[in-house]
Amino acid sequence: MARRVESARGSMPLSELLERKEARAMSSFGVKDLDTMLRFAPRRYTVPAPLRSLHDVQVGEEMSAIVSVVRVKERSMRSRRGSILEVVVSDEVEEITLTFFLAKQHLVEWHRSRLVVGKHLVVRGTVGWNSYSGSPQITHPDYEEYDDTPEGIAHAQRPLPVYPLKQNIAQRTMRAATEQGLEFAGSLAQPVPRSVLSARGLLTLPEAATKVHRPATVQDTREGMAHLVFEEAFVLQAIFAQRRAVDARTPAPALQATGPLQGLFDDRLPFELTAGQLEIGDQIAERVGRDHPTSVLLQGDVGSGKTVIALRAMLRAVDSGHQAVLLAPTEVLAEQHHRTITQLLGDLARAGQLDGAADATRVRLLTGSQRTAERRQTLLDVTSGLAGIVIGTHALLTEGVEFAALGLAVIDEQHRFGVDHRRRLRTKGPSGMSPHVVVMTATPIPRTAALATVGDLDVLTLRESPGLRAGVTTHVVPEQIASWETRMWGRAAEEIAAGRQVFVVCARIDETAPGDGATPHEPPPEPLPPPPDADGGATGTLLEEPRGVLATAERLARRPELAGARIGVLHGRMPAEDKQRAMEDMLAGRIDILVATTVIEVGVDIPNASAMIVLDAERFGVSQLHQLRGRVGRGEHAGIAFLSTRLTPGDAQSRLKQIADAADGFALAEIDLEMRGAGDLVGEEQSGLQRTLKHLDVIRDARIIEQAREDAFAVVAADPDLTAHPDLAGAIENRLRDADPDVERS
Ligand code: ADP
Ligand code: MG
Repeated sequence: MARRVESARGSMPLSELLERKEARAMSSFGVKDLDTMLRFAPRRYTVPAPLRSLHDVQVGEEMSAIVSVVRVKERSMRSRRGSILEVVVSDEVEEITLTFFLAKQHLVEWHRSRLVVGKHLVVRGTVGWNSYSGSPQITHPDYEEYDDTPEGIAHAQRPLPVYPLKQNIAQRTMRAATEQGLEFAGSLAQPVPRSVLSARGLLTLPEAATKVHRPATVQDTREGMAHLVFEEAFVLQAIFAQRRAVDARTPAPALQATGPLQGLFDDRLPFELTAGQLEIGDQIAERVGRDHPTSVLLQGDVGSGKTVIALRAMLRAVDSGHQAVLLAPTEVLAEQHHRTITQLLGDLARAGQLDGAADATRVRLLTGSQRTAERRQTLLDVTSGLAGIVIGTHALLTEGVEFAALGLAVIDEQHRFGVDHRRRLRTKGPSGMSPHVVVMTATPIPRTAALATVGDLDVLTLRESPGLRAGVTTHVVPEQIASWETRMWGRAAEEIAAGRQVFVVCARIDETAPGDGATPHEPPPEPLPPPPDADGGATGTLLEEPRGVLATAERLARRPELAGARIGVLHGRMPAEDKQRAMEDMLAGRIDILVATTVIEVGVDIPNASAMIVLDAERFGVSQLHQLRGRVGRGEHAGIAFLSTRLTPGDAQSRLKQIADAADGFALAEIDLEMRGAGDLVGEEQSGLQRTLKHLDVIRDARIIEQAREDAFAVVAADPDLTAHPDLAGAIENRLRDADPDVERS
């Protein structure tokens, strides 16, 4: 996994502290200052093999022994330039040869200066066989001078840090760098106050850094890392504490009106609200009624009915004389929300029209691809306040749209929005006031994970779904088994024959141009991560290029099972009108199969669609796959989803199977967490805060997160501006800058 490392502001630059070679090695990881380097944890430790006598060693075995140098011989290599250095060492009983192949003369000199006859050494390495001399040897061993005391023995057996490496950087260089840096550990900034550390039984930072990089025992490494983990959690929680403190000082419009639109709307709803919808509705109403901005994360599975909850809150804003905005991640979704909301509101949305209701408001759609005239009219309604409800994409935030009186912003599908979006929304309120923010997500996250990553939001969870949904059954289809693939298309044909519709999702638009899935409105799918134990490499089975929308549509047209089916396409590169037409055709039942990219991932609502086929499913992220299958089984017809893959059975396939079997978004969130680790918990576009977690594991460290939260909130409550905690204030600033380099802090 690629590491992103920030540079801490105000910390000592490594270029001034370290030798050039060491400073350069660190710099190739983006580590440029002492504070960052001493928090750059080893990826693991090697615990040396127990000390052995040379008599016991076996070829192929990892060994370490205390020896002394008997003789040193240097000869030149035959086939290429350089020397072979052969050093015979003995433990007083047996001898073994240490062999070095060295291309550069200065390295020969360096080894010779350290391998003087009579010197005591600890040697570590893997025993090999020298067929030339017919004796065992160790090629390129690790060795260091040995001091013949009890401390010396303990030192020889200490765990050694193993840092990540890059080409041409030796482990030795990385170790030398941190060794050199530890001399200055006393000058590190220490974000966690001493009182907190001692109450939690944690080491100070200089102690911890020493134990992480120069441990004497394995226990040391744990104690050292415990500080770094706690510190990371603590700084994060201090950020959340400060944000909440700022909110508590910021005025917001209190949205307290109870009618008339809310009552009129409830009366005409075609269904009963579920108990959960009512309860969460009340909780949101209470929060937006306060005169300080609230930030709520509303999580509920796909199809659990979040939109209605949001709409009721937006009507409360309008009733209270303010506006509400609903932001969607894509134009397709924004248009759909506009359609649904206009429909649900009926004449309540037609203010100023002949057939509008007396208390009606206006619902306006604002997207990037609107025609100028239409757009001008919309903007006019937004700035004048005539539009009570505005629906748009997040482009709306960047384009300097001015609201007359924005009281509430609802963000749909939060994993596409970052903290910076939320912050930007905050500035859109009337006369120095901040609007309330409700973020909706269908990718729920477990409680401590939420604390660690969106700890500045109040999390409300919608657990039930309206009974109407027929649900989805998911199958994994390994395409090497031709009969399965045939069966899959056969099932699609059966659905079509029964009057239903089918989605087919591809990872790309074309098959020729690589990476064309990415357009501003359509992020490329996030691939499934390699299994946790894989060392960052590819899984090795991804042989074929993913299939594209256009070629797939052509291929399907030729499949005998699908003869006569009407096939449409939808992808992010189509002009806005074409996209809209494709959606309308699908909605109206004029096409049977819609072949699309992940434009349809979030929220698209076609109640008559009952089959979802995802091709090259291993290319999609866990939450994407869940979102995709949530597109079917939304109406009265049971849905069926196929996760199709050309991978041979193995890790990726069993991960797809796990996803297929997960009952709901909550079970899936756990799987997602396990697979990805906390790294990008809430998806790629979520704030950088969690993307850049370095030591913290939101599952393993749940308790630490709770403790850090308690402590950080207490520190911030007592000293909101952190005047007595400059190191903490500095760490917060660095963290935020690292997470969102482009966002200005307010
Ligand atoms: P999501 O939480 O995925 O955004 P939606 O809000 O889109 O879910 O709701 C899914 C579907 O369920 C919509 O067609 C919506 O009108 C319908 N719905 C919402 N609440 C109820 C309810 N209480 N009873 C019946 N249908 C409902
Ligand atoms: Mg939705």
